[in-house]
Amino acid sequence: MMTWSDQVAVVTGGARGIGRAIALHLAERGAAVCINYAAHGEAAEKVVQEVKAGGGRAIAARADVADFPAIQVMIAQAETQLGPVTILVNNAGVVYQATLDTFDHEQFERMRRVNADGIIHATRAVMAGMRARHYGRIVNVASIAAFGTALPGNAFYAATKAEAAILTKRFAMELGPQGITVNAVAPGFIRTDMTQGKRSAAEWEAIEKAIAERSIMGRIGEPADIANAVAFLAAPDSGWLTAQIITVDGGRMDYVGH
Ligand code: NAP
Repeated sequence: MMTWSDQVAVVTGGARGIGRAIALHLAERGAAVCINYAAHGEAAEKVVQEVKAGGGRAIAARADVADFPAIQVMIAQAETQLGPVTILVNNAGVVYQATLDTFDHEQFERMRRVNADGIIHATRAVMAGMRARHYGRIVNVASIAAFGTALPGNAFYAATKAEAAILTKRFAMELGPQGITVNAVAPGFIRTDMTQGKRSAAEWEAIEKAIAERSIMGRIGEPADIANAVAFLAAPDSGWLTAQIITVDGGRMDYVGH
């Protein structure tokens, strides 16, 4: 029986926000972690140091998830330095707000290449090893946007997250017979650079209050709220749990329709 200390996890976009919390949480449980980043190498190095300070094993690895050969190189590096990859968390994501009036095709393509193609690339890069060992846990970070939230300006981002949701279920079907589970977490509104970064303090206060009021639990989410759900799906004893998307949103009450 596998234990947490047998695990080697790759977390895409693991240097900041939700990915950082996931990497730290998996390391706390005993997994070695590869912190993937695209631009923020210093932040990734800090997470590595945090894991090491706690007695864990970690490396930082730069690769754009939209670039398949780069992702293959990163997985090979993780396997050489940490051991066979048993957990893949596809967390890297980007958002560009737009409406039908302000639609920008290049931005939409970039979101698709990171949020959807990134999942395909990283999954394809780890699957041979996982199949050979007949063991794997893949967790994708989708979004409640995929199911139709009412936040304005999110339609095209939501479409890329709907891709993430369906890829989760279909990849689970393809990889299950080889001992690999594929699940997703669909976060609600979480306090990270993605949500906070582009807003003024006043805008942030207003949106935090508005979202908190739409949540059964009365607050917005923190990265650690998502990390906990990811760890549950990635756990060695979650081997009969696959093709599921767990919504972690504090009980949001503002979906477009059910
Ligand atoms: P964030 O604070 O903006 O962080 C995004 C992370 O993704 C960064 O670590 C970034 O790495 C990485 N990344 C972006 N493009 C990449 C690429 N091409 N290759 C590799 N890494 C890349 O966002 P977050 O809020 O933590 O979001 C994490 C995930 O949760 C995303 O998939 C997002 O769509 C999803 N999500 C977020 C929320 C929310 O409310 N925050 C809600 C639902 C879903 P660098 O720092 O190196 O650029």
